[in-house]
Amino acid sequence: MLLDVKDAVRGDTVKMDAKPAGKSVQRSLHQTAVEQFHRAADLVGLPEPHRAILSHPKNEVIVNFPVQLDDGSWEVFRGFRIQHNNIIGPYKGGLRFHPDVDLDEVKALAAWMTFKCALAGIPFGGAKGGVTIDPHGYSNAELERIVRRFTHALGSNIGPEHDIPAPDVGTNAMMMDWIMDTYTNLSGPGAKQTVKGVVTGKSLACGGSLGRDSATGQGVLYSLRHWCGEVGERLDSLSIGIQGFGNVGGHFARLAQRDGCTIRIVGDHTGTIRNETGLDTVELAAWVADQGGVAGFPGATAADTEELFSADIDIFVPAALENQITLERAETMKCRLIVEAANGPTTPEAEILLGQRGVEIIPDILANGGGVIVSYFEWLQNKSSRYWGEDEVDKGLRTLVWDAHDAVVVTKRSLNCTRREAAYAVALERLADLYDRRGIFP
Ligand code: NAD
Repeated sequence: MLLDVKDAVRGDTVKMDAKPAGKSVQRSLHQTAVEQFHRAADLVGLPEPHRAILSHPKNEVIVNFPVQLDDGSWEVFRGFRIQHNNIIGPYKGGLRFHPDVDLDEVKALAAWMTFKCALAGIPFGGAKGGVTIDPHGYSNAELERIVRRFTHALGSNIGPEHDIPAPDVGTNAMMMDWIMDTYTNLSGPGAKQTVKGVVTGKSLACGGSLGRDSATGQGVLYSLRHWCGEVGERLDSLSIGIQGFGNVGGHFARLAQRDGCTIRIVGDHTGTIRNETGLDTVELAAWVADQGGVAGFPGATAADTEELFSADIDIFVPAALENQITLERAETMKCRLIVEAANGPTTPEAEILLGQRGVEIIPDILANGGGVIVSYFEWLQNKSSRYWGEDEVDKGLRTLVWDAHDAVVVTKRSLNCTRREAAYAVALERLADLYDRRGIFP
């Protein structure tokens, strides 16, 4: 079967054989996202106006802004904010600081946010943004000026009822605090308290939520727990490999080990390490905080990057970047389940091969929704000025993650499709229902 996927923005067409032809197909990340969307749209019979609307972002904001560096020189940075859809609620999505950030990547990530929020049942739309930069190459003072100038350049394109950024790869709570502070200063004294919710993932002192820091990793673990219940596995019997030991991978590793899992192999941008009897993730976190990466960790032996994918483990958790599980790597994988903590880690042809080999995938829009769910709780807390306890946050997170999984499992059975297609189907039906009720202006 040939899938004919039209990316109307670029005007080009991707033809893809449903059976992997033995080598990876070249396509952009946005083409992958559009392809996934159209597959699910076909499955649920999504009508044409909805299909056309949801395969394009609503707004694409690109800003070029100058910042003075510590040595007195000037550099012009390029930043993006893509607002994919806001039929359900304000645009919502992270900000990525990475050298590979470009319009195509951010468009894909923004689309995934629309479907993730719809699937999680929270009143947000989808957006994503970023700056093309390697943040490790700049001092804290320079990063502060870059973040503040980027916020200023975005201006009224963001706002607590309009578009709400959050942390992603290369950004953190400190940067979210700077965004909030810059935005409130631009908003005038009368609005200082009411605009705190312009960004989520802030520090607790600046109006952040308990549990936001670990929310994505915790949500990934709740996803794994739900799968264990579904297939009759014991969580504490599972061995795990993880790519990425940052916010998502690091918290997931610690929480999974606390609940009895054996973390056997971990890789990041500095290298790969393994310990057959289990890595001590608390000590590893301290090492990474000090050294900047997992390489050289004394409680493990060094391994090759490809060993991470071919390791003899039950579960693989990609928690770094997109397109990491390629067709070639999928051929070597021995795990039974992939839980996509990262966005877009599996290429479409790798996914087909993994399906043929009986490897299940919990897709990104389902597995890593914990971050945006607790971002929603943070936004609610900022609006009401009533701050929640840790238990309230955790219970709310678990309920929403498991509700989304329940809906996907039911849809997967009724449509006899993959878990990714079922996740999209649930999201698309919710979005389509809203368009049907509201109509399309004018
Ligand atoms: P982070 O910057 O905290 O960590 C990124 C990790 O990826 C680091 O360990 C880094 O070493 C590793 N990495 C980077 N380049 C790599 C490479 N080439 N090879 C191997 N490892 C590499 O980012 P994060 O917030 O943990 O995000 C990780 C993933 O999770 C991304 O796909 C992000 O979009 C997704 N995600 C994040 C959140 C969140 O709340 N932060 C929410 C949902 C999804």
